[in-house]
Amino acid sequence: MKLDVNALRYLSKDDFRVLTAVEMGQKNHELVPIELIDSISGLKHGGTFKSIKTLMRHKLLHHDSKYYEGYRLTYMGYDFLAIRTLVSRGHISGVGRQIGVGKESDIFEVTNDDGEVFALKLHRLGRTSFRAVKSKRDYLGRRQNYSWLYLSRLAALKEYAFMKALYEHGFPVPQAIDNNRHAVLMGLVNARPMVQIRTMAHPARVYLSCMELISRLAGKGLIHCDFNEFNLLISEDEELTLIDFPQMVSMTHANAEELFSRDVECIIRFFSKKIGYVPEQDSNLPYVRPVFAELASAPAADGEGALDVALEASGFQRQHQKVLEDYQLEVAAANDS
Ligand code: ADP
Ligand code: MG
Repeated sequence: MKLDVNALRYLSKDDFRVLTAVEMGQKNHELVPIELIDSISGLKHGGTFKSIKTLMRHKLLHHDSKYYEGYRLTYMGYDFLAIRTLVSRGHISGVGRQIGVGKESDIFEVTNDDGEVFALKLHRLGRTSFRAVKSKRDYLGRRQNYSWLYLSRLAALKEYAFMKALYEHGFPVPQAIDNNRHAVLMGLVNARPMVQIRTMAHPARVYLSCMELISRLAGKGLIHCDFNEFNLLISEDEELTLIDFPQMVSMTHANAEELFSRDVECIIRFFSKKIGYVPEQDSNLPYVRPVFAELASAPAADGEGALDVALEASGFQRQHQKVLEDYQLEVAAANDS
């Protein structure tokens, strides 16, 4: 998606007030009626109507009249609200090129006033899968219908909290800088996704780094659950950085062992099939697979306790985890059917 931040400059304070009013209205309305927008914004002399026109022109709002007349934010409208907040906090001043398109996110290069460059991840839960999820949900006839705004905001909150905790514990992850709404601001990593690599100078060393990383996470009570060549960035000198944390679960999860093994097997498959390095045939390796049972029974290495417990203090709580897990299960089920 193109992010035309030029429009940021053309928008007035009132325009943002109206955009925020729509966001607030969406907390309990799928479509926000114009009367409600007007009453939340509190603008006088038809100011709301004028701003709605401007916001529509810049594609920040979407108008719908299928069941009743109303407005909702577009992705870009929500992006603008998050970006404006990060700008007002002094963390960014410009948005540059797009560096990544994930399944459920867009990632941009952004700069601050000192010319430093960062990565800004905008979560888009439901982008690819919402229709499928919706039909599945109708079919199952249950589950609350959470909006993509809410789900994306939860995913960003979780990703930020995990990234920050992992970084502080010395894990090779991007530095977590800020979070607002569905956006995560983080350090820009000078490395490529491992999926783009076909040959390695030291495949055994990189393979062991992967297994050590999985083990270290487990030692902190965590399983990544999407530990694969797409979410590992590898630098010129073959150092790894792990990204993408919204699907992480605790080692106490009911399916922990299965999820743990899936992460391990993904990496074995990648090295065997794409790199031409078969760990099982390398007799020099100290081990091929880390042992789940050993890791699960070991106390957190540095005595600070498991990270998954400490994370609760971040504002990301168990009920949030449940919402995200339900959503991810529905996506998986919809994709399977
Ligand atoms: P998704 O959840 O949509 O899969 P990811 O967090 O995996 O999103 O990011 C998608 C892509 O964006 C990555 O494969 C990588 O190319 C790029 N990317 C993400 N974060 C960074 C970062 N901090 N530095 C550099 N590139 C990044
Ligand atoms: Mg990813």
